[in-house]
Amino acid sequence: MEIEICTIGGYEQVGKNMTAVRIDNEVIIIDMGIYLPAIINYEGEDWHTLSANQMIDYGALPNDNIIKEWIRDVKAIILGHCHLDHIAGVPYLSAKYRAPIYGTPFTIEVLKTILDDENIILPNKMVAMLSGKKVKISKNIEFEFVNVTHSTLQTVMIAIHTLKGTILYANDFKLDNHPVLGKKPDYLKLKDIGKNGVLCLIVESLYAEKDMKTPSEKVARELLKDVLLGVDNKGKAIFVATFASHLARIRSAIDFGKSLNRRVVLLGRSMGKYVSSAEHVQLIEYSKEAQICGYSNQIKATLRDIDRNRGKYLVVCTGSQGEPSSILDKLINKQLPFRFKEGDHVIFSCKTIPSPLNITNRQALEDALKKEKVRLFLDIHQSGHAAREDLRDFINLVKPKNIIPAHGELHMEQALENLAKEMGYHDSQIHVMGNGKRLIL
Ligand SMILES: [Zn+2]
Ligand SMILES: [Zn+2]
Repeated sequence: MEIEICTIGGYEQVGKNMTAVRIDNEVIIIDMGIYLPAIINYEGEDWHTLSANQMIDYGALPNDNIIKEWIRDVKAIILGHCHLDHIAGVPYLSAKYRAPIYGTPFTIEVLKTILDDENIILPNKMVAMLSGKKVKISKNIEFEFVNVTHSTLQTVMIAIHTLKGTILYANDFKLDNHPVLGKKPDYLKLKDIGKNGVLCLIVESLYAEKDMKTPSEKVARELLKDVLLGVDNKGKAIFVATFASHLARIRSAIDFGKSLNRRVVLLGRSMGKYVSSAEHVQLIEYSKEAQICGYSNQIKATLRDIDRNRGKYLVVCTGSQGEPSSILDKLINKQLPFRFKEGDHVIFSCKTIPSPLNITNRQALEDALKKEKVRLFLDIHQSGHAAREDLRDFINLVKPKNIIPAHGELHMEQALENLAKEMGYHDSQIHVMGNGKRLIL
């Protein structure tokens, strides 16, 4: 049996994740993401009009042309979680593979929303499945999902079992023992997989340079509680900016909004979409506790009321990156019927994803808010990604023979390489690959 791994995308940047695993003459594709900064930076009219190959040239999609000769051998496309850097390439790339797409129910639901939005109908069959069940792809290949924690729901590691050992794909995760929503990582399962032999671990390196253990989501919840319940906000507007897909964070905001006797409003199109996807697969029921405003008319009507009764609401919205056309951006540009006043609160329950454009946008947003004398509360957040000490524990748990650092720029992957060496791995076992490279195991 010959196993070959092709690192199609996401091995030189944070985004456009895509990996192919060939087991003799059968191929499994894991993730098909986009590179968001390329899309945000796009200067043409509408990037939706670009062809897949144009998007590849532009750097927005992983270059899967390098596995052209494998097209007919692809047996499955497996998605680890619903973030766009892992699934948003599916509408453009997956049809030619004629293989089913597997993901957890929430991941598949989010994918369907993206496809609906872009009016794309894929020929691929979509299979929603929970972690803990094995799927037989062929005589020689089985795979299963292993539950882990991350900054969105139903995130899984993907274990592909072969006669030569398991290929374990661990993008993205944190080791959170106190998640606010969902279960803890399935350590028992991971240990078990480790015992049976992990031939190769493909693992994120985003924070391999950070000497720490990423704090639990429970810590982020406490930070949010502290600024919402511990600071006088009587009669002031409160906006909590976070990622629309971060349903645990939204849960906390709803809880503290209720403690403050404020009406909680989830504002914005993408916020509405993620919440309704999660409700659809019965993970949450936020619409029973909060008002969800996804459409432009609703948003305007609600904001008019918030403008008049600012002390009665708590607004959760997007715009945490200062991205143009987000709710916060439109508010500050006075495109919506609400005006910030002195002493209003804006809580950034997020981190700026450090691309130059994001940093500029976010700075401009903060400056504009300060000009209105709004009180800013930054960094009310904890990451969804493992840091160096989590990575060490994780590698110890699953004891892989080979390691491919992934989901990062080269310097991040090299930091993970150094960690592995520190742990006793030899050069021949650690493979910093870059995009479009192949490794025969
Ligand atoms: Zn993610
Ligand atoms: Zn990611």
